[in-house]
Amino acid sequence: MQSNQPAKASAVRVESAPVKGAQKKWRAGVLGATGIVGQRLVNLLADHPWFALTEVAASERSSGRTYAEAVQWHLEAPIPDAARALVVKGLETDLDCDFVFSALDSSVAGSAEEDFARAGYPVVSNTRNHRMDPDVPLLIPEVNAAHLDAIPLQQKNRGYDTGFIVTNPNCSTAGLVLVLKPLADAFGLEKIFVVTLQAISGAGYPGVASMDIQGNVVPFISGEEEKMEAEPQKLLGKWDGSRFVDAGLGLSAHCNRVPVVDGHLECVSVGLKKIASLDEVREALRNFEVDAELASLPSALRHPVVVLDEEDRPQPRRDVNAGNGMAAVVGRVRECPLLDVKLTLLSHNLVRGAAGAALLNAELLAARGLLKHCVAPSESPLAEHVSR
Ligand code: NAP
Repeated sequence: MQSNQPAKASAVRVESAPVKGAQKKWRAGVLGATGIVGQRLVNLLADHPWFALTEVAASERSSGRTYAEAVQWHLEAPIPDAARALVVKGLETDLDCDFVFSALDSSVAGSAEEDFARAGYPVVSNTRNHRMDPDVPLLIPEVNAAHLDAIPLQQKNRGYDTGFIVTNPNCSTAGLVLVLKPLADAFGLEKIFVVTLQAISGAGYPGVASMDIQGNVVPFISGEEEKMEAEPQKLLGKWDGSRFVDAGLGLSAHCNRVPVVDGHLECVSVGLKKIASLDEVREALRNFEVDAELASLPSALRHPVVVLDEEDRPQPRRDVNAGNGMAAVVGRVRECPLLDVKLTLLSHNLVRGAAGAALLNAELLAARGLLKHCVAPSESPLAEHVSR
């Protein structure tokens, strides 16, 4: 395996266990485990049927301390027992795990994720750094699972052996695209106009100063409108075997930060290619159903879009945890005098838009045989050695 990183530990790769009835879990590391997304990942990995958390990594501020000492924990559930005593590592590529999640600050994520992929680790990233790379899948399993076919070309282009990078979209894009997908399939899409009301947890911790957001709205989130206008084009486009072809949508986004803790609300107007009644639009959203492969993933919902009929829903406080935070909740489907139809949607920015999205991506990788079990040489003397 080619690597610019020192190979500090050698490991042995054995066959992927079959997903159903597997006795052995894949060992997961979380880079950026002390952050607000990293904590959600640590929490979601507790008692996960396929994955076990074995490594946590963060900055020099945290490394060398136990996870319980280093983290400023923000969730209501307590720190999982399996994580409390783990010693936080730095970003050296010798972690004792089969793959890593990345919830790193974007200032360090780009090169760190490349280092881990080069050292042989599948990297399941939350960060913006590689999302729009021409050979990196930007993945929502319910929307574009076929984009995983880009991985062999990525490995060839970059000289990666067993490693690769897969990303999930920006938190406000995730909910939007999940709702656009059934409309694209049923009617075709022409134009989308979206105004967001985004929660403060989307800015990490400590995020926006309380003096700026309390009783206020901030009509600017750095880089957010650009991400919302670019990422759906890739997500709803196609992988043609050698490159990603954009969906060619007209898309305009206005992004605002509002004093809500969790949950991004979005007011969306959509121009459709085919004329549709409001009932047909509601039906297309309600009937959006994943296939059997996706339905078998532990974090997947069979119907990832939930449609509410009440005129004053969805609301962040009431609806953010629908489907364990993995649903996009839609309400107020009505005619739009400018485009064709308008609606309001809500999704949990830290679950559907970050940690849950990455977890679902990792589950799809596991189901497709793209995660391998790596064990220390002493555990399996007969197995073939690989250089990490
Ligand atoms: P955060 O709370 O600020 O956490 C950042 C994490 O990165 C912490 O674990 C921090 O470790 C680590 N880190 C910072 N500098 C580092 C360095 N020099 N070396 C190693 N580790 C370093 O941010 P977040 O909200 O969790 O976001 C994490 C990533 O996910 C970002 O790239 C963000 O853009 C993306 N994202 C966030 C959301 C969201 O809704 N919040 C949604 C989608 C994607 P220490 O604790 O040791 O400083």
